[in-house]
Amino acid sequence: MLTMQEDLLADLRRENGVALMFVDGEFGPASDGAAREIVNPANGEVIARVAEGTIADADRAIAAAHAAFYKGPWGDSLAQDRAKLLNALAATIDEHAGELSQLETLNNGKPLRETEYDMADAANCFRYYAGLATKPHGQTFEVPAASQSFTVREPIGVCGQIIPWNYPLLMAAWKLAPALAAGNACILKPSELTPLTALRLATLIVDVGFPKGVVNILTGAGPVVGHALAASALVDKIAFTGGTKTGRSIMQAATGNLKKISLELGGKSPNVVFADADFDTAIDYALFGIYANSGQVCSAGSRLLVQDSLHDRFVKRLVERANKIVVGDGFDPKTEMGPLVSRAHQEKVESYIKTGIAEGAKLECGGTRLEGDLGKRGNFIVPTIFSHTTPKMRIVQEEIFGPVLVVQTFADEAEAIALANDTIYGLAGAVFTNDIAKAHRVIRKMRAGITWINTYHPTYNEAPWGGYKQSGIGRELGTYGYDAYTEVKQINVNLAVEPSGWFADR
Ligand code: NDP
Repeated sequence: MLTMQEDLLADLRRENGVALMFVDGEFGPASDGAAREIVNPANGEVIARVAEGTIADADRAIAAAHAAFYKGPWGDSLAQDRAKLLNALAATIDEHAGELSQLETLNNGKPLRETEYDMADAANCFRYYAGLATKPHGQTFEVPAASQSFTVREPIGVCGQIIPWNYPLLMAAWKLAPALAAGNACILKPSELTPLTALRLATLIVDVGFPKGVVNILTGAGPVVGHALAASALVDKIAFTGGTKTGRSIMQAATGNLKKISLELGGKSPNVVFADADFDTAIDYALFGIYANSGQVCSAGSRLLVQDSLHDRFVKRLVERANKIVVGDGFDPKTEMGPLVSRAHQEKVESYIKTGIAEGAKLECGGTRLEGDLGKRGNFIVPTIFSHTTPKMRIVQEEIFGPVLVVQTFADEAEAIALANDTIYGLAGAVFTNDIAKAHRVIRKMRAGITWINTYHPTYNEAPWGGYKQSGIGRELGTYGYDAYTEVKQINVNLAVEPSGWFADR
């Protein structure tokens, strides 16, 4: 393992054993030399040390992005040239996909089959936005005057981008690809828990030839360097994916210069199964909806709403299947579900399991750590299901962000809709039924930004991603994601160049 680990880390730029951050085209240590230990969530071993940025480092990264956009050539770059760079980055991610997915599994813990999927998705995200960069973006208007009126979309400027630990490289792609396609300069702050693939991406960004200062990868603690990005008057936009509480504090910090803001936050998404659904399909996607990435997914189908006539049969089968999910080290090809990202997060999920029991829900399966040596060393929780819940229970209302499914029941369509919408969140939701008209009626009443009928979780670079209510502000991906990194400029050209005569020429 150690040799493989060393191989995977070999391409990170390191000094005295510390992986360096990437600012202004250079790899360097933190201003005070501090470093953070990075831990493998599957066994608790320290796998790397990474520069722990300071406020001074954040200021340096902001100044570099500012100079690249406002003084360097990037602000005036051609969309065609940006597209070439993004296509080249997509190609090099594909070339290094094997190594990148192993590095991701080492750092985040999720099974290789998931990280392989994530790497391909990340490359495709850069490719999609490379294509979009050169497509038409403005509009023309028929106005009541002899005027040619139209809009152009221009980059916002300097973008701070703060990403979480659940999809480290994919989230980097979701942030960087549209921002760079539109011509912005970026400072990306990965989670302090999972910075390794973003730092490896920095080396690929150098290889591809992005001008210096256009992309900066700033490592360090959220409340320090993340907050500095959100609060800086020199940052024109802040984009964040993560917890709702942190999103709120970022929004507050961003008020100083009224910077543009995109927030992709938490969820407690309903997966509604009617009695007339295809049974095996609904079971399959209920499992995938909650246990993919160990439930550490903002759009996880963490609330399963089952029609009461189907409830007992459905839960019985679900429990049988959940108990058979193979939990283990992400490098083991047999593994279907990996560990949680950190010991602290494992403890948080456990505290919710205790809360569920104390609230009187019925623990149908799981609720424990993995047994054996692996279970002692890594942050594993086995697939867990609670039934007999009531709508106001904390386990029903709050985001657990782990492999914990809560089951609710409903009598009819109206009750299904009411329960589906009964949380502060509105990120995603699904409905399973063979009655297509009913499926559409329920989806149209669901207060959620991402919805599925007879499936759960598919996510496309081409389609918008984001939430209603307290699940966020704005949309990522697709043309919406590109627009979110642009300002709209109205241009009016007078086609009758002669004095208007509004004020008399006396
Ligand atoms: P956070 O929302 O705190 O972390 C996400 C990112 O924000 C990280 O890069 C983090 O940095 C950074 N950050 C933290 N505090 C600040 C701050 N004050 N200012 C600017 N940036 C900051 O997630 P947690 O890891 O604490 O997880 C808490 C909960 O959030 C989870 O249990 C889950 O419910 C939810 N969550 C939702 C995600 C989603 O995809 N919507 C993803 C991750 C978590 P650092 O890593 O250094 O703390």
